[in-house]
This record gives sequence, C-alpha cells and structure tokens, in this order.
Amino acid sequence: MSVRWEAAGASDTGRVRTANEDAFLIDEERGVFLVADGMGGHAAGEVASALATAVIGGTMVAGVDARLEPADLHEALRASFRAAHEAILGHQLEDPATVGMGTTMTCLVVQPDGTFRLGHIGDSRMYLLRDGLLTQVSRDHTWVQREVDAGRLTALGARRHRLAHVLTRALGADSADEPDVVSGKLLAGDLVLLATDGLTGMLTDRVIAALLEAGASLEQVAEALLDAANRRGGRDNITAVVVRILEGDETATA
Ligand code: CA
Repeated sequence: MSVRWEAAGASDTGRVRTANEDAFLIDEERGVFLVADGMGGHAAGEVASALATAVIGGTMVAGVDARLEPADLHEALRASFRAAHEAILGHQLEDPATVGMGTTMTCLVVQPDGTFRLGHIGDSRMYLLRDGLLTQVSRDHTWVQREVDAGRLTALGARRHRLAHVLTRALGADSADEPDVVSGKLLAGDLVLLATDGLTGMLTDRVIAALLEAGASLEQVAEALLDAANRRGGRDNITAVVVRILEGDETATA
C-alpha cells in the first residue's frame, strides 16, 4: 500500500516579538518537512534556525534523491544534526556576536510506503491526528518535561510553569546533545502537524485538534492555527507545517 501527501505551512512573527527567528521547510516532492525555532540575541536566532534548516533539509533532500536504504536514511538524519551543530558552532567562531545562538529542529522524512523518520531536538513538536485522536509524537527536551517524567509536575503544571521554555537539549548548545531519531508508519487519512512552541504554548491540544479537523484546505488550516495563536496573545514566533497523508495512486505511471 503506497501513500502520497500534500502539505502547507506558514510562519508569523506573532504580536510581541519584532523579528521571526523560526524557520520551516516543505519539500513536497521528496517528503521532507521541518520546523526550527532559533534563539539568541541580535538576530542570531534567525541565523541558527536558517543554518540548521539548510544543513539538515539539504542533507535529507539529497538522501531521498540518492534513494538511500532505510537504515542509511536513519543514519543520514542523525549525521545531519551533527553537521548542523558544527555549522552553528563554526559560525559562532567567525562572528562572536552570535555566540550562544542555537535552535530546535523537528525534521520529518516520509516515504511512499508510508514509513517516516523523525529527527528531533528541543521543544518544537510533531503531532499526529489519526481517527480523531491527536498524539504528540516527539518528546519535548525541556526541564518541565523532565519534571513531568519524574512525577514531580503535572502536564498542566508544566504548561503554566515559569520555566516552561527552558530547553535541556538544542542544536548549537552542549556538543553532547543528541537528537531523538524515531521511525514509524503513516496511513492514508493521517494529518501531521509540525509546530514551534509559539503555537503549542498558546493553544491546547484540544484546540489544535479541532482546528486540524476543520476539514478546510491545508493552507486554511495552517492560517487558522496561526490566527488562533495570535488571538490568544501571540507571545512568540508561530510556525506550523501541516501534512495530509493520502492513498497512493497505484495506477499512476511516472
Ligand atoms: Ca519559540
């Protein structure tokens, strides 16, 4: 059973920040999608998220073009995170004003057989909406998530915590930071959302699920998500990439 997909994405500065340090990539043809949330003063966050997008997105697009075997694609994803980390550190050496910059990265690679690989570091998220049920596929690399895992904090407490934004892993930070690389299977009818915390910090999972299920075009869904986050305050840059998995056209001839 093969699948195909369609995708749309949008990014907005929000209502408080003056610059947008988020980045996203949609390569519909190759099935490569990502969001990144840069951080660092003097516009350095923009540099970090753009660098990571170019290195990781570029590596995965090349990997798909080279028709890498699944295990090699997996390793290419992991290696691309290391390369992005090195690129960010290298840039900091050249331009001391950018020292301390870093970025999150949530990169999804979908293949025509429906299998996917996700490379993830930081607190941007991948969600899956299947049969009306929204699940968070990625795991936040945050201090509050660690407290939730340890049973010292509830999910609601984590959302409202003053340290909710503190990351335990990021690209450009500690060199020991490894990404999570996971694989799974997507089915026709699935809806995938990649989003930065400017979206997920403003909207509960319930609101996100309702907006994803609205049945509108993916462009309208992405815009509706951004509008809703802005209406609730828009305290940070907001980015959403939405991917709809469809039944493959078995009879198509290339
Ligand atoms: Ca953010």
